Amino acid sequence: MSRIVYVNGDYLPEEEATVSIFDRGFLMADGVYEVTSVLGGKLIDFAGHARRLARSLTELDMVMPMSEDDLLAIHRDLVAKNGIEDGMIYLQVTRGAPGDRDFAFPPEDTPQTVVLFTQNKPGLADSPAAKTGIKIISIDDIRWGRRDIKTVQLLYPSMGKMMAKKAGADDAWMVENGSVTEGTSNNAYIVKGGTIVTRQLSTDILHGITRAAVLRFAKEAQMKVEERPFTIEEAQEADEAFVTSASTFVMPVVEIDGTTLGDGTPGPVATRLREIYLEESRKAAI
Ligand code: PMP
Repeated sequence: MSRIVYVNGDYLPEEEATVSIFDRGFLMADGVYEVTSVLGGKLIDFAGHARRLARSLTELDMVMPMSEDDLLAIHRDLVAKNGIEDGMIYLQVTRGAPGDRDFAFPPEDTPQTVVLFTQNKPGLADSPAAKTGIKIISIDDIRWGRRDIKTVQLLYPSMGKMMAKKAGADDAWMVENGSVTEGTSNNAYIVKGGTIVTRQLSTDILHGITRAAVLRFAKEAQMKVEERPFTIEEAQEADEAFVTSASTFVMPVVEIDGTTLGDGTPGPVATRLREIYLEESRKAAI
């Protein structure tokens, strides 16, 4: 059965949904996106994603295409129309299709392109990888300087995932000036002596919605959190490591550049944080 997707005000079967060849998202990666998870038919941390969307748009001189309530209604419609129990809702807003190609931004009254679609992932919270942990490699971070804006410029992260795959790993952490920025599509953490270490927020990394929730839960559970840069060498000597993102929640890391962490199985802090995150997020889902 084909999906029902949302394009610029219409709900259509995916085969009938189109955008212009002049769309600036297509020509210039001039657009932003969000991914919101669905568990048990409900949205996880919708308000956080809506807030970050508004911020990404503002930073690029774009406006919210509609109210947060209308955005929520579309998310819920898509969950219902596609019968999603567990999965993700992808949302993208671009600067629209001015009808030709020009580097200059089009007139402000050019309609934005707004697209949303569902990804059905039954059992999303029970992924086998969460039980075994994942292996990562390190790669240079050669992305642009505004990684806090969630743009659709995902070529380098895609290449990073391919580099990891080629090396027999699952994902990559990016390194700049000697320290880890973040994963290709997640925030990165290590745990040493019970202290959770993750890079502080800046324009160097995406301000993960899952990161914010996980750090809040960690502090509530009296775990010690240090927000500072760390190196790959420090990570390799850590007791455990993990990543967070909206679609993988808290995912343990068991190997970094060929070095096994601890006994090579998911550590207790990552395991506990995953449990707390899933439990609390399900409770707060809307
Ligand atoms: N960093 C990057 C580069 C990402 O692409 C993502 C996922 N979109 C994250 C971090 C995690 O963010 P979130 O928890 O909001 O999914």
